[in-house]
This record gives sequence, C-alpha cells and structure tokens, in this order.
Amino acid sequence: MSHIPRVLAIAGTDPTGGAGLHADLKSISANGGYAMGVITVLVAQNTRGVREMHCAPPAFLEQQLDAVSDDVVIDAVKIGMLGSSEYAAVVASWLEAVRPPVVVLDPVMISTSGHRLLDSSALDDVRRMLRLVDLVTPNLLELGALVGESSAHSWDEAVEQAERLAASSGTLVLVKGGHLGGESSPDALVNADGVVASVVTDRVATHNTHGTGCSLSSALATNFALHGGWERALSLSKAWLTDSLGGADELEVGAGHGPVHHFRSLWRGIPVGAVAD
Ligand code: PLP
Repeated sequence: MSHIPRVLAIAGTDPTGGAGLHADLKSISANGGYAMGVITVLVAQNTRGVREMHCAPPAFLEQQLDAVSDDVVIDAVKIGMLGSSEYAAVVASWLEAVRPPVVVLDPVMISTSGHRLLDSSALDDVRRMLRLVDLVTPNLLELGALVGESSAHSWDEAVEQAERLAASSGTLVLVKGGHLGGESSPDALVNADGVVASVVTDRVATHNTHGTGCSLSSALATNFALHGGWERALSLSKAWLTDSLGGADELEVGAGHGPVHHFRSLWRGIPVGAVAD
C-alpha cells in the first residue's frame, strides 16, 4: 500500500489510556496507521479496575460510524468492546453496508480485573458477527465461550477449539497462548484445517499487561492494511507488542496492572525536543 492506511477502532474507553479505544489509537499510530475511533461504551476505569459504564443511545453509535464512513475511505477496522446486543446489531449492520476491506474483531468479554464487558445475552450476536470479520483474536476464556466450552488448559486444546470456531464461522482465528503460563508466549493463526502460521516469543516478565489484547488486535489490523497477509501482520505485530511489553515498567501509570509502552521502539534514540527544533 502506498498511502498511510486509515484504520478505524470501534471500542470502549479507558481514561487512564492503557486499554480499549485509547490503547487502540496508540497501537495504530505506533504501527504506522492513521488512527480513528468510534466510542461504544464509556467506561470509568483505571489500572485497578472498572467502576462504572455508560452507554449512549444505539442511534448515536450509528451516527458516529456513519460520520466516519460518509467522509473517509476506511482501509481497516478493529472492533473491541461491544457491550450489548443493541450495539452489536448497530455495528453488524454498518459492516454489512460499508464492507470495509479488513475487519479484526477482539471479542472483549471480561476485563483482567474480572468485570463483565459484554452482556451474557450478547454472546450469540458476537458469534453471528464473525461472518463479517476476517480475523478474530479471542483470549482463551473468550475462545472457550465462543465454542460453548470452558477455557482450554493446554495449547493443543486451544488450537483444537480454534479449528472448530474457524470451521463454523469461516473466519481466521488467532490463538493466544499468553495466559497459559510457562517460559514462552506462543500465538498462532488457525483456520478450519489447523495452524497456518505461528510465532513464539519469550514471555516478558511484567505485571503491566493492561490492554495487551486490544493493542495486539489494532496492530494486526494496521499491519495487514500496510503489508497484506496475516502471517506478516502477525510477526510484525507480535515483535512490536513484545518490545512494548518489555518497556511497560518504564511507565509509571497507576497502582494496578499498568499499560504497555506503545511508543517504546518509536521513541528510542529520538532526543526529547528534537522534533521541535
Ligand atoms: N476496557 C476496555 C474498554 C476494553 O476494551 C478492554 C479490552 O479487553 C479492557 C478494558 C480489558 O483490559 P485488560 O487488558 O485489563 O483486561
């Protein structure tokens, strides 16, 4: 692609800047895209947890989406927290009308702090949305929920669940092994026939992992729009995220699980103030 990809994130908010739409905008920017954002649920949260949530009327979500697509050519979309059936329905009909060239869905269900971010009644709506999506990036809990089972306890079990999800939905699935523990952190692209590509990195020892899933899915949407091909998008996104996780402890943001350092590789070597001279 010769131009800068215009990447739209559709997601909930995090006023401390580590997860949700705030993380998406940083991730898209750090990976070389022009970042745009439509807000689903307004979330009063910090690094320690979620306090309160507020939803504007679904018609306003529709107006935000139309305001973008009526004016801007969209090269890729990342969808995060949908919250409810009503919001999922609005996003699904917008996707059907606009047909963006690339759609990545991070099927956000529960925060690390244990707060429910998707109504349990909306699970079927998320399943139905998969046919409009090119890549879905569930964590192990979300993968289990999408296939109607409990979370996988091993890598092989997770890949097997992903194969079945890919077969029933026709969508490519990213299996993320980060929650399994162990020395390494494997991720794999899985279709109905099995693993298409995988990347394994050393586990980064940090408890500052807030918004990791949001950031990875936005990076994937951006890198696919930039370079084409999911395998290349995965290796670039995973390398960037591993570096960002490695720099997370440099940031001193909040007393809970802090954010990753989205701009670590970008800022490295650039003296502060150099741009202004
Ligand atoms: N808040 C919002 C709005 C999100 O979209 C997400 C994404 O998963 C989270 C919180 C979860 O963040 P955490 O990485 O802390 O689970």
